[in-house]
Amino acid sequence: MDFDLFVIGGGSAGVRCARIAAGHGAKVGVAEERFWGGTCVNIGCVPKKLLVQAGEYGAWAEDAAGFGWTIRKGPHDWAKLIAAKDREIARLEGIYRKLLAGAGAQVFDARATFIDAHTLDVGGQRITAERIVIATGGHPERPAIPGADLGIVSDDAFYLERMPQHVTIVGSGYIAVEFAGIFRALGAETHLVYRQPLPLRGFDHDLREALAEALQAQGVILHPNTRPTAVAADGERRILSFGEGETITTDLVFFATGRRPATERLGLEQAGIRTGAAGAVLVDDHLRTTQPHVYAIGDVTNRVNLTPVATAEGHALADSLFGKTPRSISLVNVPSAVFSTPPIATVGLTEEQAAACGPADVYVARFTPMRHTLTGRARKTLMKLVVDQATQKVVGAHMLGEDAPEIIQGIAIAVVMGATKADFDRTIGIHPTAAEEFVTMRTRTRVVEAARAAE
Ligand code: NDP
Repeated sequence: MDFDLFVIGGGSAGVRCARIAAGHGAKVGVAEERFWGGTCVNIGCVPKKLLVQAGEYGAWAEDAAGFGWTIRKGPHDWAKLIAAKDREIARLEGIYRKLLAGAGAQVFDARATFIDAHTLDVGGQRITAERIVIATGGHPERPAIPGADLGIVSDDAFYLERMPQHVTIVGSGYIAVEFAGIFRALGAETHLVYRQPLPLRGFDHDLREALAEALQAQGVILHPNTRPTAVAADGERRILSFGEGETITTDLVFFATGRRPATERLGLEQAGIRTGAAGAVLVDDHLRTTQPHVYAIGDVTNRVNLTPVATAEGHALADSLFGKTPRSISLVNVPSAVFSTPPIATVGLTEEQAAACGPADVYVARFTPMRHTLTGRARKTLMKLVVDQATQKVVGAHMLGEDAPEIIQGIAIAVVMGATKADFDRTIGIHPTAAEEFVTMRTRTRVVEAARAAE
């Protein structure tokens, strides 16, 4: 065999797996056809957060007046922002590639496809490997409606030549909500069109309500319970149709309607590797596909599609195959954040999920952050703990508000460790912060049981 391990895909999962396996002494090859670092580094988490931060500066410039500053807010230069972002992403992409080479992995800038279960075509070269890892990630999907190609997806949003003045975003998942905040903060009239009554299906109900309020406070125009039916062109402009003959004419239709595992044209059938719903590669608890020497990690398995999960899977797999510490990772209590404006972060069970397991004590706090008592900005914070009544363990922590992702990361350690409400209560707060609210919630807001949660 040419390699002990060959990794298909140089994103978060693949790079980590290849790098750690090479560090353990394995002979490793890794192929990437597009960009090193994958979606997260190039057209996902990293540039997205830079764009969110660009929007925050605009708000800070306005808010400074409340603290006595006179700051004249000039126009925003989109091209300058995108150029700065591109420079940083190019630097990071270079680092990812260097990390691999530095670890001793052989790097192929090429597409890899299966010829059989041990043989790959890598940019026209025939390569054999003892073990193979599929880490090809996913890509955005448009809905099946007429004219869908006239809209953009998140891949395109990072390379727009001009900042649109009027944007219509379809969907209300992570990407839709994050970009609604970005475009609005940079000055566009922003519409969010989604088919649920509240955004972010699957998140805690209180958070979803607070998010809808926050989006409106920011000036995003919400169209709940709305299903788009078609897109048409009117010169440079776009017309999105929905409902009973209603339309929005807009500069940009942005479909943030979910992502799909990238498993097409990989030759999986030649290798006897089975896929399931949406084309996701099926894996067992050890990340093995239906071909035991072939593994799959990250978004291509379509389980918990988050970068830190992908890197943790890649690392655990490399350690298990070539290190002395076989291990797997837990997908229970995975914290995550939505970089809406302001952001959301969450760990553990929603109120509804907890109640389905038994009675739960719920603690909710809503307040105006200290800063905004002077700025006057209509921005609220929501913090919430969900506690299993029988064990008194904190099974869920949720927050919408400034710094939520920074705060929930620490709370997540306590939740993963099984901390009880009493453990939270005996922790002294840091004053004055928003975070201290998590250790000073003394009065239970309500008790929730399965029957009530179902209502
Ligand atoms: P999500 O799956 O989170 O949301 C998809 C949205 O599109 C939902 O609101 C869904 O509505 C809607 N939708 C799907 N199909 C249609 C349709 N045919 N017509 C109208 N609406 C439709 O996908 P995203 O694209 O936002 O993100 C993909 C994944 O990427 C996330 O689930 C997450 O795992 C990851 N991600 C994580 C981020 C983070 O950690 N901050 C940031 C960005 C992405 P409905 O609810 O009705 O199904």
